[in-house]
Amino acid sequence: MQEKLNVEIINENKIYELLSKSAQPSKEQINEIITKALEMQGLNLLDVSVLLNIERKEDLELLYQTARTIKDTIYGKRLVLFAPLYISNYCSNNCLYCGFRIDNKEIDRITLTLPRIKEETEAILEQGHKRVLMLMGEEHKNCDLDYFYKAIDTVYSAKDSKGSQIRRINIEIQPLSSEEFQILKDIKIGTYTVFQETYHRATYKTMHPKGPKSNYDWRLQVMDRALSNGMHDVGIGTLFGLYDYKFEVLAMIMHAEHLDKEYGCGPHTISVPRIKPASNAPASLNIPHNVSDEDFKKIVSILRIAVPYTGMILSTREPAWLRSELFNMGISQISAGSRTNPGGYKQAFNDDYDDSQFSLNDCRSSGEVIQSVIKQGFIPSFCTACYRLGRVGQDFMDLAKPGLIKLFCLPNALTTLKEYIVDYADEQTKLLGKELIQKELNEIPSDKIREKTIEYLQKISQGQHDLYF
Ligand code: SAM
Ligand code: SF4
Repeated sequence: MQEKLNVEIINENKIYELLSKSAQPSKEQINEIITKALEMQGLNLLDVSVLLNIERKEDLELLYQTARTIKDTIYGKRLVLFAPLYISNYCSNNCLYCGFRIDNKEIDRITLTLPRIKEETEAILEQGHKRVLMLMGEEHKNCDLDYFYKAIDTVYSAKDSKGSQIRRINIEIQPLSSEEFQILKDIKIGTYTVFQETYHRATYKTMHPKGPKSNYDWRLQVMDRALSNGMHDVGIGTLFGLYDYKFEVLAMIMHAEHLDKEYGCGPHTISVPRIKPASNAPASLNIPHNVSDEDFKKIVSILRIAVPYTGMILSTREPAWLRSELFNMGISQISAGSRTNPGGYKQAFNDDYDDSQFSLNDCRSSGEVIQSVIKQGFIPSFCTACYRLGRVGQDFMDLAKPGLIKLFCLPNALTTLKEYIVDYADEQTKLLGKELIQKELNEIPSDKIREKTIEYLQKISQGQHDLYF
């Protein structure tokens, strides 16, 4: 099994060359790229670097509008929801931006026992979620992989008062070895995610002074190990604020191109976390390359245009008003009602960040987020169908690229929203949700699928669950 790749994934000189070559782009250059973008086949690195250098307000508006059109055409109105589940905050790394780092002696360390993981899962299920993202720090004494695998089983087997269960677990843990992926491939997980944090080698070194995470190449090559050892769907991301965002976006696209070229399938998702304050985490309190809200909107729009078929994930690190704007610009998955401290779902919500990984900016409950998503005209979706039907990896992309995945996404969004309405919604959300379902049924292009969806919706009203395409 290959542990060390000899391919260069990130070429830093090329990134700087591209950025200087495309400085101060002309209107004609921008318009040409926008026209190409609307063909929805993605963009090359030079195109992306031109868009990153856009500064004029009217050009930014054109960029946002293009991202909106592409998002609407490919994804329609559905927004997939998930909840993060932190199971341990022990960590032997010392990432300077993170509240869980080993040198932070002021947080209470905890690894949840399996019964407590069950309780947390039940609390998440009671909010209506069907999909979780499991996370933990990297520390082999208190939270090794064996514990993690048992935790996965515990989450899948938990049931709430309605008899509902988690249907898809995505994971975000340390980079694994090829041998570890060989074990993981037989465990039911959806996407395996690791953020590179920063693709800039020198900054990476400064930010990760201690522990296994200080090895840049081991982390960068993790998706190669994952995809050559049985993983189908992988997620990448950078932590915006550590280094120049233009560099990071180009590097992330380079990474995606590398995976696409080598494995016939790029990343399933891209995440766009921005640094938030965390206790005793110097780089989170004095952010080296702060990204403004305007630049953040530019980043999301460019990614949507550059890799149109890759899901884009936004967490509750961002405030509600900005999240709402970004839904239009390309975000396809969001977390809601999140807690970033192990055990946080069963505790009363505490707005400070003392024992959390970082502070949250959207502190609304899942119910509040869901209602506001509906009011904005989007369909909150709890769909997990692709993963369960084996529409993963290249099979997923083969459907996504010709625009066929929408045929399943819309009806599945409607049936899972219906389940939410029947089991968990308050009266106002029930009314709003029913109206939305009625309206969106007409948008299903195939008569056959629309009729089947209506049949499923009726069955769900009568108490049946888990009906999907
Ligand atoms: N410990 C594993 C690791 O670092 O790969 C698992 C993921 S860690 C629990 C989740 C992610 O949180 C990190 O990859 C990092 O990007 C992000 N994070 C850490 N500190 C943060 C902060 N202050 N603000 C926003 N995100 C942060
Ligand atoms: Fe540990 Fe991950 Fe936090 Fe780094 S980001 S300190 S590895 S939990």
